Amino acid sequence: MTTVGILGGGQLARMLALAGAPLGLRFLVLDAADDACAAQFVPLLQADYHDQAALEQFAGRVDVATFDFENVPAESAHWLAGRVLVSPNPRALAIAQDRLAEKSLFRELGIGVPEFADVDSRAALDAAIARIGTPCILKTRRLGYDGKGQFRLRAAADADAAWNALGAQASKVGLILEAFVPFQREISVVAVRGRDGEFRTWPLTENWHEAGILSASLAPAIVDAAIAGKAIASARAVAEALDYVGVFALELFLADGEVLANEMAPRVHNSGHWTIEGAEASQFENHLRAVLGLPLGSTRMRGHACMLNWIGALPDANAVLADPCGHWHDYGKSPREGRKVGHATLRADTPAELCASLQRVGTALGRRTQVDPVIARLTA
Ligand code: AMP
Repeated sequence: MTTVGILGGGQLARMLALAGAPLGLRFLVLDAADDACAAQFVPLLQADYHDQAALEQFAGRVDVATFDFENVPAESAHWLAGRVLVSPNPRALAIAQDRLAEKSLFRELGIGVPEFADVDSRAALDAAIARIGTPCILKTRRLGYDGKGQFRLRAAADADAAWNALGAQASKVGLILEAFVPFQREISVVAVRGRDGEFRTWPLTENWHEAGILSASLAPAIVDAAIAGKAIASARAVAEALDYVGVFALELFLADGEVLANEMAPRVHNSGHWTIEGAEASQFENHLRAVLGLPLGSTRMRGHACMLNWIGALPDANAVLADPCGHWHDYGKSPREGRKVGHATLRADTPAELCASLQRVGTALGRRTQVDPVIARLTA
């Protein structure tokens, strides 16, 4: 019996465990929270990621280890990697944790990126604004997610407000200033690389955000072949440079025909949740296959899919359950503002059928603003 250890016990760990059950796998999650939602199905070791005794116990109970959370302390990942096989490797994790290191790597690999600058002081912020121009975004280098730890500057006069909001973080987690990209679309490549270097991607996904949080994902994204080819080549270059094993997502902006990389997530990703029903093998199954050195599953799509995120609280499940295209995912979390508590995937054989389902579900739930951008894309 093989036991997969997962650092972090949120919904990603929960969906990994659900995908791993048919493969005969056991799991153990390490999480500081006593209500980690994966622990509803999976044994939980409740401890801080720095807790040496807990890490030792964890290493002793698992055959391989992986993450549902990228901000695990690098030293804990390194320590574990000396005892069990950890995938993705700690160097890949360390680079993906740091927006400056990750953007520098993208640039070295010839991947387009928005202009960026390291900001370690107020003077450095002024110099960066002078070089990059406005509008621009000040972000924490580490520990930011879902639009948290970001401040948008419309003009140089916003520098004081930006520094008031984030300056205290400069010495703790570092800051980066990025040019604001007036993008037309956001897309992601969800990809998997096996232990033997085999690389596969699912069809590209288009993503819509609300207040910095993913709201809807459509797959396959409707983009021309040259853009798709560039996006996939970028993901492959990153995976090979990091000797990456497992699933990751590369988030990209499409701006006037240009493809610019925003960030990578070194784990299964919210924009790949549609693969559970919409692809031959899901991102969760393939991540497990990759970290265990098993043959990878097919990433072929089954029709067309749209994932709708439920943020803060769940809407009425019946509207989705009653729909012939509907699949419901409740993460078993208590409601809280800004928290991802579940999602739905609508899967159909044709774009027209998917549109009809989006219309039915969006109307029944009073969520036309969430579904309408997707419908507009499908009917353009
Ligand atoms: P992030 O945490 O970097 O993924 O940012 C969250 C969201 O903010 C992104 O999905 C974009 O919608 C937006 N955003 C982040 N960086 C930029 C940028 N440089 N230019 C324009 N929009 C951005």
